[in-house]
Amino acid sequence: MKFCPQCKSDINEDELDGAVRLICSSTQCDYIYWNNPIPVIAGIVELDGKFVMAHNVTWPKGMFSVITGFLEQREDPAECIVRETKEELGLDVYEQKLVGVYGFDRMNQVIIAYHVKAKGKIVLNEELDDYKLVELNELKPWPFGTGLAIKDFLIMNNVEV
Ligand SMILES: [Zn+2]
Repeated sequence: MKFCPQCKSDINEDELDGAVRLICSSTQCDYIYWNNPIPVIAGIVELDGKFVMAHNVTWPKGMFSVITGFLEQREDPAECIVRETKEELGLDVYEQKLVGVYGFDRMNQVIIAYHVKAKGKIVLNEELDDYKLVELNELKPWPFGTGLAIKDFLIMNNVEV
């Protein structure tokens, strides 16, 4: 960002409240780019007692994860996961529960993770090109991002992690 999106003045990098911020140089303008984390909605999708792990078209082969998506304008996270489950997997959510909220500093995101139970036939959208259905005890957490939600979900279900 070179110019202020509010007044088109030059943007300066300056320290403010303990971090370097992009701040408008104009004394007539109060614009500061805070770079706040962006919420990402994640879904541990259960279909007929198994869990959907999907492969994104941009990922290396063999890498699978839960589905994720960004909120639409003014969208409630609980509605977002229903929409994302339908859009990405073609499935209809009939039950949902919050698993947890996780900071993901490397991506400057906050992950809001749900467990959803869904029905229907899986139809992947253009973001995904493969999936697998795994048993609860085949879910393997990893130590960042949505992996933390999987870990909590396993603990909630009394699976040793
Ligand atoms: Zn400005």
